[in-house]
Amino acid sequence: MDHIWSPWRYRFITEGSPKGGCVFCRLAEDTANDESNFVVHRAAKNFVILNLYPYTCGHMMVVPYAHVSKLGAADEETTSEMMRLVRLAETALEGLYHPPGINLGMNIGAAAGAGIADHIHMHVLPRWMGDANFLSTIGETRILPEELPVTWSRLREFFSAQTSSSYNKSL
Ligand SMILES: [Zn+2]
Repeated sequence: MDHIWSPWRYRFITEGSPKGGCVFCRLAEDTANDESNFVVHRAAKNFVILNLYPYTCGHMMVVPYAHVSKLGAADEETTSEMMRLVRLAETALEGLYHPPGINLGMNIGAAAGAGIADHIHMHVLPRWMGDANFLSTIGETRILPEELPVTWSRLREFFSAQTSSSYNKSL
């Protein structure tokens, strides 16, 4: 049942990965290409990005700008903001996709299944009854009801609206 508890486990970001470099650090610095990199939102200490190999439609990751491999190595401000962004992501998914469930998860270390073990990231993904069975049948084939650019636009809009209103006040 492991794949149901942590369905993102075998889905790594591999596209555009520079040899020997950290994908998340590259994305953190590449501020001019948020659309093509599917960066949904940039906050002070973390950014939110779509998973290139989403388990379900709307699968996001909250990633600190800092290259840290453990939560304990991140500062308090970073981890607090991470949780605020996870909360926003939850609200976004509920508003846009109405999933009956949401998985949150972080794999710390390669043995736990982290695809990019040196740079922590929190997965936020909507779940529907039966989606695990569906995906285990089709394996790695990406069949989703919505293309990533569409998902990106919808979530980007949500986050920018939140940032310009109540979110800033809560920081
Ligand atoms: Zn990194």
